[in-house]
Amino acid sequence: MEMAGMEAQTPPNRQDGEAFLQQLRATFAQMPNDIELLLFTDRMQDDVFAQANRQVIRAFRELTDRITLREYGLDHEKARELNVTVSPTLVIAPDKYNIRWIGAPMGEEARTFLELLILVGSGQSNASDQSLKVLERIDSPRNVKVFISPSCPYCPQEAVNGAKAAVARPDLISLELIDIQCRPDIAQQYSAHSVPVAYANEALIGQGAQAEEVFMSSLQKLEPQTIFIPDVDAEVVETDLTIVGGGPAGLTAAIYAVRSGLKTALVEADALGGQVALTPIVENYPGFTQVGGKTLVDIMVNHALEYVQIFQGEKVIDIKPGTPHEVLTTRRRFMTKTVLLATGASHRHLGVPGESRMSGRGVSYCATCDGPLFRDKKVIMVGGGNSAVTEALHLYHMGVDVTLVHRRDQLRAQEHLAKNLKESGIPVLWNTEVKDILGEERVTAVELVNNQTQELSTLPVDGVFLAIGYEPAVELAQKVGIELNEDGYIARDAKHRTNIPGIYVAGDVEGGYKQIVTATGMGSEAAMTIFEDLINPYWQQ
Ligand code: NAP
Repeated sequence: MEMAGMEAQTPPNRQDGEAFLQQLRATFAQMPNDIELLLFTDRMQDDVFAQANRQVIRAFRELTDRITLREYGLDHEKARELNVTVSPTLVIAPDKYNIRWIGAPMGEEARTFLELLILVGSGQSNASDQSLKVLERIDSPRNVKVFISPSCPYCPQEAVNGAKAAVARPDLISLELIDIQCRPDIAQQYSAHSVPVAYANEALIGQGAQAEEVFMSSLQKLEPQTIFIPDVDAEVVETDLTIVGGGPAGLTAAIYAVRSGLKTALVEADALGGQVALTPIVENYPGFTQVGGKTLVDIMVNHALEYVQIFQGEKVIDIKPGTPHEVLTTRRRFMTKTVLLATGASHRHLGVPGESRMSGRGVSYCATCDGPLFRDKKVIMVGGGNSAVTEALHLYHMGVDVTLVHRRDQLRAQEHLAKNLKESGIPVLWNTEVKDILGEERVTAVELVNNQTQELSTLPVDGVFLAIGYEPAVELAQKVGIELNEDGYIARDAKHRTNIPGIYVAGDVEGGYKQIVTATGMGSEAAMTIFEDLINPYWQQ
């Protein structure tokens, strides 16, 4: 069964909740293996995480009798036998695998848990052929730890990468999924101040969600890899349109293209939804007075999946223009008549000395993901736009002691957000810039300068959140020879056509107002142009 949110997703039939549960029941019933779960808890500290484990597992056990749960205290002989020392620890199918969940599969991680149960129950890793080839080369044990958080939309991808590896090579690969909200102390030990982050044999192998093959390659080499080139015999898929990027622009384009009758594929290396998935609350998308960014993304993705096949966790590494164009990913080759680049934007960096050194050690670009690690701690949020204010409010409501640092004396954020900020009482340091981020193992302070008085100061903090805008993600476009405009965005005509015939662009990567509603609008326009151009190709005239 293909899972929503994980790699090649096929359009489901229209189905209500009950039909989905029926499908799950049937999937569990057909699995070759029963799944034994062992929950270890400290009976003296029966916390919400232990209770959440029981609740989630009970919900699955109502669907199937193929799952059994036994619970033990940490002082039980079984805990000693399996070397379990941390509460709560969920041990999954110990007869065949070495997989543990420290914490509870809540929030975003419920999806990971379901996928994990299906992998274990089916005894199939679902890893790609390319990944399996890499895993076959591993010849010594790998103890993998992936730090995750229920509020992190990027985490399931990295957690499932670990699960696939552990199921594919149970002889050598063990996996611990560690929820940082439950066990911030273990996260602290590993200096894991940003999720997801993966270690193998105590070596860092990945920060952020990695494409599956990149993760496997990092696991094999025991150091983070940035690129994975597939074998020449990678699978070939033929399409009319291949969309690169699964944010609002790409998802909308996919809906329009398939409804026009175009054979379409969408490829997304990271989490679907782009920047929206990381926005705590959206208040200006028509039809929703207030909606969580991730919830809005889930609605869009489910809608798109009614139509299009989504290849998630698969990174496009090259495009060779031609007839057809060839889009090479970490896993396969798309031979496609047209390409739509909806690659969005990536975080702007401050460029101060300590920033990259402390990234993941207290410097974060995702308040939604990493905020829970800083509860009751002191942080600054840098920026004065909608993102900085929305995220500062999110941190504040989560119990983080946050101060906003802005380089001017006026916010760029909308009036409504500025008012909320004022009412919250979050302190603001106006006309202030960050000169450096200090710390050894983790962030301990920032050096600030008041740009009016030039006065320098050092502020002790545990974390630095950055929300200072975005840079268009144009690396791939530049590699292919696509022209940029003077602002660094992809240059295009009024119909979203780039300088290379048959290659189009939509969304934040073409500049303009960076709103969800404009991105969806651009996605639909581009798809309609592509449909018209394929009937009447302008490049043949
Ligand atoms: P933004 O609107 O570009 O704001 C960036 C902020 O960071 C500005 O206040 C800017 O200062 C500051 N900044 C930029 N470079 C800096 C540097 N090197 N050092 C210090 N400060 C720096 O970015 P954003 O807030 O991420 O928003 C991006 C887009 O998404 C916007 O179009 C925004 O409207 C949209 N968005 C919408 C929502 C929503 O509607 N719910 C939520 C989030 C984002 P200056 O003001 O001095 O230029």
